[in-house]
Amino acid sequence: MKKLERRALMCLLLAGMLAAGLGLYIGKWLVYGSEWVSYPANKHVFTDGKINTGSIYDRNGQLLLENTESGEPEYSDSYSVRTATLHAVGDIDGNILTGANRAFAGKLVGYNPVTGTYSAGGEGRQIYLTIDADACVTANEALGDHKGAVMVYNYKTGDVLCMTSSPNYDPTDPPRIKEDDTSGVYLNRCTTARIVPGSIFKLVTSAAVIEKKKDLESWTYNCTGKEQFESSEVDRITCPYPHGEVDFEEALAVSCNCGFADLTLSLGIDNIKEYTKKTGLMDSYNINGIHTTPGSFDFPSEDVNIAWTGIGQYHDLVNPCSMMIYAGAIAGGGKAAVPNLIDSIETNSGLPAGINWSRKTDTLIESETASVLSDMMRNNVIKTYGEYNFPDLDICAKSGTAEVGGGNAPNAWFTGFLRDEKNPYAFIVLVENGGSGANAAGSVANKVLQELVNE
Ligand SMILES: [Zn+2]
Repeated sequence: MKKLERRALMCLLLAGMLAAGLGLYIGKWLVYGSEWVSYPANKHVFTDGKINTGSIYDRNGQLLLENTESGEPEYSDSYSVRTATLHAVGDIDGNILTGANRAFAGKLVGYNPVTGTYSAGGEGRQIYLTIDADACVTANEALGDHKGAVMVYNYKTGDVLCMTSSPNYDPTDPPRIKEDDTSGVYLNRCTTARIVPGSIFKLVTSAAVIEKKKDLESWTYNCTGKEQFESSEVDRITCPYPHGEVDFEEALAVSCNCGFADLTLSLGIDNIKEYTKKTGLMDSYNINGIHTTPGSFDFPSEDVNIAWTGIGQYHDLVNPCSMMIYAGAIAGGGKAAVPNLIDSIETNSGLPAGINWSRKTDTLIESETASVLSDMMRNNVIKTYGEYNFPDLDICAKSGTAEVGGGNAPNAWFTGFLRDEKNPYAFIVLVENGGSGANAAGSVANKVLQELVNE
């Protein structure tokens, strides 16, 4: 009898293990199935490691790429569209890891857990991206010969309308890229770069100042053009010229480094650290499976380095996309939509396949703080950047001119949003070695926003 009992127990144990194993497999199959299928060794949907089915369009139905049976995709007829959307769409050899043709391969082949890749609607899917190819062309042309990044998105729905990274090239005629190439040509700077922010970081320090600085109303600072720390020549903060007496709003509008050094030091590095985290700049965002690169910061202990950290220099590095999302959260009263690159997916017979849910970020800024900062960013445009440079746009912004050293011209930044119910767009523009932020990057932002608002 005991023997029987032992055997029964053993059977039960084995059955339990089988059930657990099956459960684990089903779980993994549901989660990773599309990845397994879109592995380039799958000869059914790949030719020589290149995906051979599915096509990619922009939001207006403009063809960007069509995969063919040979594995050599056909791109848009337009050279300007091919170059401007290279990083969004991807290259033939899959060197651009974040390009849609590679990142969304599982969706392009039309995989689903029930029918696999033999789906009812026939093979291959049409993916409509949220980007507007014409706006990408405008952005790419506005960047000119500069390296840089331009990203605009709807902070309410998450739709990315423009995403252009430079340097880029014509994917139908790829250049030979040297192994020691440092231009980062395969890198989508919008989602995957980390760059010195300079004064656009003052938007983070400002959130801390608004919430934590005591007697902020009575705070003023007399800028002489430099703030000396210790005795050494290098231990000092400088402004391009003396700003004279500034209050907080003026300090942001003229981007007074010395004034912000004073504010940063009165808050202390722990507050700067807390707000850098809270604003999401140290997070990675998941854009339809593409993970953005989180920013990187040191939070030093020496006064002069603390001061530079609050001004967006020292070892501060931000990811352009996460800075744009923060601008969206300021506009949205605390939260913004997480960016989304897929507008819709259709089967060959035009049936919808898959739904995208709009997701919100955490609270990146308190709503009252966001409202104060919005007004200050509007004041920046009126007092410093010039409303006439942004005709008919109710734009709120902050520029940045980030020193990069090595005798190179500084990086120009411009970030912000439109206060426009119909066009709730947040944006970020980086023009590497472009010089002054408001001039170089601000004019790029204006061209792209005008195109998007007036189309
Ligand atoms: Zn100053």
